[in-house]
Amino acid sequence: PLILGIETSCDETGVGLVRGCELLGDEVASSVEQHVRFGGVVPEVASRAHLEAMVPTVHRALDGAGVKLSDVDAIAVTAGPGLAGALLVGVSAAKAYALALDKPLYGVNHLVGHVAVDQLEHGPLPKPAIALLVSGGHTSLLLVRDVATDVRSLGGTVDDAAGEAYDKVARLLGLPYPGGPHIDRAAREGDPMSIRFPRGKWGDGTYDFSFSGLKTAVARWVEDGQRNGDALSVPDIAAAFQASVADVLTRKAVDACVAHGVGTLVISGGVAANSGLRALAEQRCAEAGIELRVPRPRLCTDNGAMIAALGAEVVAAGLPPSTLDLATDTSLPVDRPLAV
Ligand code: ATP
Ligand code: MG
Ligand code: FE
Repeated sequence: PLILGIETSCDETGVGLVRGCELLGDEVASSVEQHVRFGGVVPEVASRAHLEAMVPTVHRALDGAGVKLSDVDAIAVTAGPGLAGALLVGVSAAKAYALALDKPLYGVNHLVGHVAVDQLEHGPLPKPAIALLVSGGHTSLLLVRDVATDVRSLGGTVDDAAGEAYDKVARLLGLPYPGGPHIDRAAREGDPMSIRFPRGKWGDGTYDFSFSGLKTAVARWVEDGQRNGDALSVPDIAAAFQASVADVLTRKAVDACVAHGVGTLVISGGVAANSGLRALAEQRCAEAGIELRVPRPRLCTDNGAMIAALGAEVVAAGLPPSTLDLATDTSLPVDRPLAV
């Protein structure tokens, strides 16, 4: 079946068209430029942008895939988690399409979509797999027995998300929002060993993460440097910060694979685009004999194809569709791939 996926949880209006593991169409309209001067996403601005972008983005995706709206067999939409107003635009549009086309509607989980999208690049996900989800708002380690029906959280951040830490540290270093890609670029010119920043929750025997101590350590480093009149090396700080983040994320992810006897690690979410994280994950997975799957950066950040990919799995699993009174859920838990 041909699945239309609609994503509006944050500042990207994403529309994807997927058949099984095959990606047919993927269009994203981002309002990120409108948020830059505020240093973060402004919910009302994002909602309005979704409203304006929704229908044109659907049509671009259909044109790109060379299919017609009437070819669509089911509609999947992000029901949560995310910004209330932003989610509402996508869910309302999805309901309208489902009603007009008389096709089933599936309200799905954005976070699980970040995992499911890997199938579009690397084919069916081995069962079980461990997934490390690292995005702007979430950082979780998941045991995925079945992406549509059985996702269990092993641990997650107790404070900031990994992407949030990137964005906050970028701000401290005077780099633009969103900071992840800027830190990534700066880090390439720096020495990761030049400063030893703390590794939050390292070796505590849990699969939880903490990044607020790291962020504070960077802030203190910058303040001390300014007070002493030292020339701060942004590349060195960026590289040392990135090394700390990548170190804990990959260590705990590999530990989870070993502890659960799982041979596949999937890393996804916006921070999975990070070159330092990718490189260290490759090295440690190779050492541990674990297959590493990281989707290309375009699929790691928010998009509609990830929602269509999860929709395809939900349909294949024979789960019942959502009804037209499907509600948005700003804090939909990750263990519910399909919102009820
Ligand atoms: P969530 O999925 O938790 O709701 P989100 O959808 O806003 O959050 P994503 O779009 O998946 O998050 O990811 C955005 C985050 O990824 C931002 O914090 C951004 O700084 C970070 N990011 C993007 N590229 C990179 C990179 N190369 N290195 C590090 N971080 C990055
Ligand atoms: Mg975004
Ligand atoms: Fe996301």
